[in-house]
Amino acid sequence: MMKNIVNTARAAFATGKTRSLDFRIQQLEAMKRMIIENDAEIKQALNADLHKSGFIAYSYEIMGLLAEIELTIDNLHTWAAPQHVKKNLTTLGDDVYINYEPLGVVLVIGAWNYPLVVLLQPVVGAIAAGNAVVIKPSEVAEHTAKFMEKFVPRYLDKELYPVVNGGVPETTELLAERFDHIFYTGNTNVGKIIMTAAAKFLTPVTLELGGKSPCYIDKDCDIDIASRRITWGKFVNCGQTCIAPDYILCDKSIQGKLIEKIKETLKEYYGDNPKESPDYERIINKRHFKRVLSLLEGEKVAIGGEHDESNCYIAPTVLVDVKPEAKVMQEEIFGPLLPIITVKDVDEAIQFINKGEKPLALYAFANNKKIIRKIISQTSSGGVTGNDVFMHFTIAALPFGGVGYSGMGAYHGKHTFDTFSHKRACLIKSLAMEGVNKLRYPPYSQKKVDWTKMILMGKINKKKLGLMLLPFVAVVAAVILKKYRWQLAGRGLQLAMYFQRLCFKQDQ
Ligand code: NAD
Repeated sequence: MMKNIVNTARAAFATGKTRSLDFRIQQLEAMKRMIIENDAEIKQALNADLHKSGFIAYSYEIMGLLAEIELTIDNLHTWAAPQHVKKNLTTLGDDVYINYEPLGVVLVIGAWNYPLVVLLQPVVGAIAAGNAVVIKPSEVAEHTAKFMEKFVPRYLDKELYPVVNGGVPETTELLAERFDHIFYTGNTNVGKIIMTAAAKFLTPVTLELGGKSPCYIDKDCDIDIASRRITWGKFVNCGQTCIAPDYILCDKSIQGKLIEKIKETLKEYYGDNPKESPDYERIINKRHFKRVLSLLEGEKVAIGGEHDESNCYIAPTVLVDVKPEAKVMQEEIFGPLLPIITVKDVDEAIQFINKGEKPLALYAFANNKKIIRKIISQTSSGGVTGNDVFMHFTIAALPFGGVGYSGMGAYHGKHTFDTFSHKRACLIKSLAMEGVNKLRYPPYSQKKVDWTKMILMGKINKKKLGLMLLPFVAVVAAVILKKYRWQLAGRGLQLAMYFQRLCFKQDQ
């Protein structure tokens, strides 16, 4: 079955219809209509999967996706246009450019935490770049997956953009097929499975993974503001956000105030009982509920800790005096638990961060921006926001992706288009000026090597080169003029002038 789906997509791609930018834009417009016309169904699905309210569904998923589609439609002609590049001395009169080509049939595998946007945002760029796309929603967010299966074929080309639903067996069957790119969002362990399957066909992969994203708070910092921003970023979507601050690193002297401020903020955001707040989500399923709860064992709870298995509720929870070797510090939490680990200064925080795998995001709060810059320069992560959380993710011009175990490759805006394009190097030479090419034809000599080295390698004395080249250019121009006379006179003159300018500049 998977073979048929992929073969059909490949045959549809081979017709060449996705080469047309108008066709791609028409498909993106159709996706936009699908989202706008079925707003209620999408909100229902997101509510059923994760207890997302309509406001949250719109602000965190629908709006971002619509913005990405519009940005892509508005810029596609510019992004897809041949990009002319700097030439070297041997190609001055030729056409040299990068051509953006579709890769072919690509596979996009989504995760369940933001099941609409995490799946369709890469699909936008894949369509824009002219690919056929096999779309695989996460089976864990089953209502959103059903929405995709029902509505995508009603709006988009069915053969080029099939939706495949299913769990591990179906994904495994899909991965046995050959793709031209695989874009996977999910956890690091499955990321390794994806890369192994891709290696069989030398298929390039983009892996959008997770990890433990640290959050350092300097003692010289506005704790009130920091608490508000961190509380929002940690507990939105019940902590199930790939770039949520995973844990806090701070000086012991500010731990008490921090807890007090987080408590106040939680009350302001979710009321006395977050369980009753329409703005507080739920853990996706019982398996993850049990996993998150098991991370609480043996830990000192400063705020929250309440839970209810019947509806996968875990209250926003803050843990204090957490030891680096605690279970909660061994894996990405991906739930509403916020451990606080105390460090004596920024250097100890940097050391702590560098002991772990490179995270997807890193946050640092400090009045003094030098401290934030120091952390940036001495650590590594997919992205960084200083004095806030998440916000680097919202800037379409910034590449979004991980490094090391938090992933490889990046997307958002033009970066998604680039991810799904082959940058083809194109040179169209003129048939004139064959005399110059003697340098590369046998018989070879040291003189020819010296000339070639001077022309092709950057390490040349430009002044000397200019002076030496002047008679050479004159000879070449004379030969060409003699042979082709007026047709090429203009070009010879251009070359001579170029070298003259070069000498003139060097003499100044
Ligand atoms: P998940 O369980 O939905 O799995 C993701 C996808 O992998 C699904 O489509 C699933 O069918 C497929 N899959 C699962 N097991 C598989 C297997 N054995 N073989 C082949 N395919 C398999 O999602 P998850 O992994 O629980 O997602 C949470 C993780 O994703 C977290 O680590 C989070 O940080 C990360 N994440 C990253 C981003 C990002 O943009 N970097 C976004 C969202 C989530």
